[in-house]
This record gives sequence, structure tokens and C-alpha cells, in this order.
Amino acid sequence: MTQIEAQSLVKKISAIFANTGFTGESGSLKRSLYVEKFQDLDYEAMKKAIDKLILVNKFLPSIAEFYETYQVIKKKQSMRLPVALENNCAVCGGRGFLIKLRTVNMMPYEYLYHCECKAGLPWAYDGKALKEDQSEFRIPPISEYYGNEQAANG
Ligand SMILES: [Zn+2]
Repeated sequence: MTQIEAQSLVKKISAIFANTGFTGESGSLKRSLYVEKFQDLDYEAMKKAIDKLILVNKFLPSIAEFYETYQVIKKKQSMRLPVALENNCAVCGGRGFLIKLRTVNMMPYEYLYHCECKAGLPWAYDGKALKEDQSEFRIPPISEYYGNEQAANG
């Protein structure tokens, strides 16, 4: 974050925590140390860290405590990202499979289809493709469903 951002966050914490000890000569030194350390970190994540620390601390946490909470938030953010990317599939919403109703002999049946995105690959299963223990059970790709629908609707 920029120096101005760091200063604004330190101003915020000095307003909300008791006993900051930011007064006097050693106090201003302490204050500038907080500003300096905050500058090395990400502004949005630090803002969240402060919001979290407010709830559990009456007195000003140490720089180490701020950094610890900051790291937890950063780690959570980096873990959430791949999941969000995977869920971008417009067809299946990242689940990898879809359940569609098909009418067979006047009766509606639920059929399982696998999506053709990356999330759908583990669902692809074709019992006939097995060399041994062949079965009729298969999970067809969703394109097959849409193909059938189009054929049925002329
Ligand atoms: Zn998909």
C-alpha cells in the first residue's frame, strides 16, 4: 500500500484501540514504525485484518499480531481464487454434471450428463468402453442431450 494509505490505517487504529501509546517522542517513533510496516502489505487485506482485530482486542495489537491476522486473510484469499475460476463454467456452474428430464415411453426420467468443461471430465463414464464387465450404464456428454432435443423438436 502507499504511505498515505498506511497513514490512514494507522490513524484508524489509533482512534479505535485504547492505549496505543502513540503520544510523545517514543510514541511518534512507534507510530511511524506501524506506518512503515503496513506499507509493505496489501491495503485491502490489512483493512480486513484490522476489522477482525477490532472485535477481539481492546488494546492496540502488536505489529506481529497485525501481521499474523493479515497473513491468515491473505492465505484464505489465495485459497478461494481457484475455486472461483473453476465455477466460471456457464453450462454446469462448475459442478461438472447436469440432470435433465427426458421423456421415454411417455414417462419423464432424470438423466445424468457430464459437462464438457474441465470439471465434467471426472464424470465422463461409458460402461460400454470397458473391455471387461461391460454395462449399459454410461454418463453421456451434455451435447448429446441438446442434440437429441434438437432432433426431437425438428
Ligand atoms: Zn461445465
